Amino acid sequence: MSALIVEVVYRGIFQKNLAARIARGIVLSARKSGRWGIAFGRYGDSPQRNGIPAKDFAIVADTKEELEQNMARYEPKHTDVTVVLDDTLSKGVESWAWYGLQPINRLTVPNGTVLMTSVQPFEGLLKDIHKRDSPYKLSLLRAKASFSGLWVHKEDHTEARILGALAKIAPNFLTLDGVSQAIQEIEWGSDLKVASAKKAFERLETREIKITEGNSEIPYSFEMPKWWEMREGVTIPAIPIGKPKEGGQGYVPERNPYFKKFTTRTMRPVIDFDTCVKCNLCWISCPDSVFDVMPDGTFDAAMEACCGCGVCEAVCPVEHCITMVNEAAFEDNASQWEMWRKDKAAYKTWLLAKIGDKPTTVRSHGFRFRGQYEQELVADLDQGGVEIAAGIPGENASHKTRHVQGGSSIVTGVAEAPGA
Ligand code: SF4
Ligand code: SF4
Repeated sequence: MSALIVEVVYRGIFQKNLAARIARGIVLSARKSGRWGIAFGRYGDSPQRNGIPAKDFAIVADTKEELEQNMARYEPKHTDVTVVLDDTLSKGVESWAWYGLQPINRLTVPNGTVLMTSVQPFEGLLKDIHKRDSPYKLSLLRAKASFSGLWVHKEDHTEARILGALAKIAPNFLTLDGVSQAIQEIEWGSDLKVASAKKAFERLETREIKITEGNSEIPYSFEMPKWWEMREGVTIPAIPIGKPKEGGQGYVPERNPYFKKFTTRTMRPVIDFDTCVKCNLCWISCPDSVFDVMPDGTFDAAMEACCGCGVCEAVCPVEHCITMVNEAAFEDNASQWEMWRKDKAAYKTWLLAKIGDKPTTVRSHGFRFRGQYEQELVADLDQGGVEIAAGIPGENASHKTRHVQGGSSIVTGVAEAPGA
């Protein structure tokens, strides 16, 4: 008797429907492959918040008895395959229910597989993925992360491609024929998606990862309080007031010392302190009290606290002063302001390189203009659609936005008047 245990790690809300489709697709593929299967979400992750890492699980077993034995557990402690739907999750995950930061490969069994959608090279990802004390395999499906949201699903074939890749990784449990039949029959399936699954099966790139490879950083963790250390009753203390920065100048707001939030983000703000006009708008608008007021009156985003929502970029009135850049372009959470203070010319060079790199400043989630979705699907579904230079609404986005004239409605597909 044996079983295949799969976890699907995804960004809460943004990829909820995608993860659910994959988990259900695994179960149906298992039945078509002559196996038994079940899928479930991780209870502790609800309610979800935008971007917060969350998990679904799917278990495939040879027999009903084996399946029921696995179902008796609250959640799997080890997984044969870890599916990762956004490569910025390589930096680790911190959800509502876990404490501290968990390496993305933490539950993956020795010689198991981490399956990820990414356009990054293996070496780039291994700078972020934490080292393990046992070897495992890293399998890459060449594609951008697929984001849509709570109410929409992006039909870019990511779910079908993941199922095709799983047939390659675990053929004893999910056959390619079984996966193909399942995709044909499931309500979101089609012949075109079957073809995508088969291509993913053929094109999957896999590399053995040795115990010497990966990020050697010790992940952030903390001790949970013991029950006898907790206060009586249920009280929620007010947020304490913050502290001044060096020399009594500036201000650091008090933040949650345990929940760091940074694994929530797929993009981070890059700030040009030379052009900042000290208007306070980013500081006032940031929903997570991320900005420190610096002694010179500019604002530094504390990277451990930033969830990457992009509001600061949207409200900043100065062009190029705050630019959201893909999280994969960074290797640490160091203070940008300190870097700027140390060497302003070097900071400018660093900043221009970061914000001038089009692939990493492309918006990674949400639809920014009508017709964007259709553009993304124009070609190359194998890559999750064409790369697209889509900015954010508002005046400050003009340098990043490709304005679309006469695009069609996301909902109806019918051509719309410019400006509709
Ligand atoms: S992206 Fe900007 S507004 Fe959003 S949490 Fe980070 S610093 Fe705050
Ligand atoms: S919104 Fe822009 S200009 Fe205003 S304080 Fe923040 S970084 Fe400076």
